[in-house]
Amino acid sequence: MMQSKLIVGGRYRESEKSFDVINPATKQIIGRSAIASSQDVKDAIDLADEAYHKWSRVPSVERAEVIFRVARLIKDRQDDLSRLITIEEGKTLRESRGEVTDAYKACMYFASEGRRMHTYVTPSEQEEKQCMSIRRPLGVVAIITPWNFPISTPFWGLAPAVVMGNSVIFKPSSLTSLIGEKIAQLFLDAGLPEGVLNLVTGPGATVGNNILNNPKVKAVTFTGESKTGHSISELNSKFFRRQALELGGKNPLIVAKDADLNLTVAAALFAAFGNTGQRCTAASRIIVEESIRAEFTKRFVQQASKLIVGNGLNDNVEMGPLVSDQAQMKVIDYVKIGKEEGAKILTGGFLYEDERKNGFFYPPTVFGDVDNEMRIAQDEIFGPVVTIISAKNIDEAFSIANDTKYGLSSAIYTQNLKTAFLAIEQIEAGVTFVNQGTAGIEVTLPYGGVKESGIGKELGEAALEQYTEMKAVYIDYSLKSRPWFYSWKE
Ligand code: NDP
Repeated sequence: MMQSKLIVGGRYRESEKSFDVINPATKQIIGRSAIASSQDVKDAIDLADEAYHKWSRVPSVERAEVIFRVARLIKDRQDDLSRLITIEEGKTLRESRGEVTDAYKACMYFASEGRRMHTYVTPSEQEEKQCMSIRRPLGVVAIITPWNFPISTPFWGLAPAVVMGNSVIFKPSSLTSLIGEKIAQLFLDAGLPEGVLNLVTGPGATVGNNILNNPKVKAVTFTGESKTGHSISELNSKFFRRQALELGGKNPLIVAKDADLNLTVAAALFAAFGNTGQRCTAASRIIVEESIRAEFTKRFVQQASKLIVGNGLNDNVEMGPLVSDQAQMKVIDYVKIGKEEGAKILTGGFLYEDERKNGFFYPPTVFGDVDNEMRIAQDEIFGPVVTIISAKNIDEAFSIANDTKYGLSSAIYTQNLKTAFLAIEQIEAGVTFVNQGTAGIEVTLPYGGVKESGIGKELGEAALEQYTEMKAVYIDYSLKSRPWFYSWKE
């Protein structure tokens, strides 16, 4: 039995209360996680604030060295970390290893930022004067993350926040608090000074709320549901906080009539059912031009029904369980809703009767005859459920793609350059992939959604905007008394 603790001011701290952690493939209890009290949260924020004043004065190149060491530790511990992700969250071991690699990449990229963090110098309106901007860290930053990418999503925030001189309050999802503690431990083992990273775990409604109601928290990076993001955003505006909110999605994958179907089917399977469909970037609406709909659907359904579903620890398994009973119930409810709405189940849509009934398993499920107005095409189900929607032509495909409150990821399969560029221009989303599924974000580009999928960006240079403040600096070396304004010569 594992037992995770809080990390406050660089020290492990026992909590009065804790909760069970369950393996979603077996429903067995694998550990217990700490619940931070309001005093624990307050202490963590006070100590983070204290640590910030020292840490922000350490040269960024030196701060980055810690993150390079974290990267090395991630590599050394990849097997243990991956195994823990699989038994706590449920994804396959192969997916877990991929995710651990993503955390490593985030460290390498943002540690290199310690030597860049570029700003700019502009010409002054006056002689003997310099105008420049510099970057300053913000202070205490809260990073609140979900369970579906329990190591890569935290690192997208933790690595840049720390390199850029902030201190952090990290609150992982309760469903993946064990891995949350392992993440914090990596930083301690890499020599991060006490208090720069603090781990508080427990339910978002209480622990998250205690973090967000503390005025010492200067910025929030939140990844989770749009509904939660909305209430967090209200609190952030109360405290005039910097925020990046990475929220839900209902991502379209468009299959144009000239798409290479072999490539498209393989990519669509991965985009739809990878991580058991529990990706914010999962392809949950496949929009197909009518002339190839029947052929695409036949091949896609055939292959979806063959995916091997089971405990992610087994090598041959291609799709693991859902994360929790709540997640499984949501899928069951939406499958019922889809049937009532008149959509047709082409594969899946049942509960297993074999040993998989001992876990939160659900088979890859494909709905045909779907109208984009249906709830199964509009609501984020967050499971292995895909809707196939027919479009008369490519223009209709674009308008169906945009007919959603979300705008996170999108993809198009086509061999026509013009169609590809029209998709890039016209789809309302933070990301458009051409001839790649809706998932597979790289750390070098800005990432974030539009509409109800979020506000603010992470990754790439956008991380600099999230974790630093630009300060304008004017240096007058004329040593003269003169007007501050630019005056033209008649
Ligand atoms: P939730 O919104 O339920 O939770 C996300 C995190 O916020 C958890 O740590 C949770 O804690 C915490 N939390 C919950 N309520 C509050 C609150 N009132 N104040 C502060 N913190 C709170 O999302 P899920 O964990 O269920 O994750 C799935 C969602 O995340 C999906 O909608 C998915 O699309 C989205 N997501 C978006 C991504 C993106 O990049 N756009 C990437 C990945 C996921 P706890 O769970 O412990 O209660």
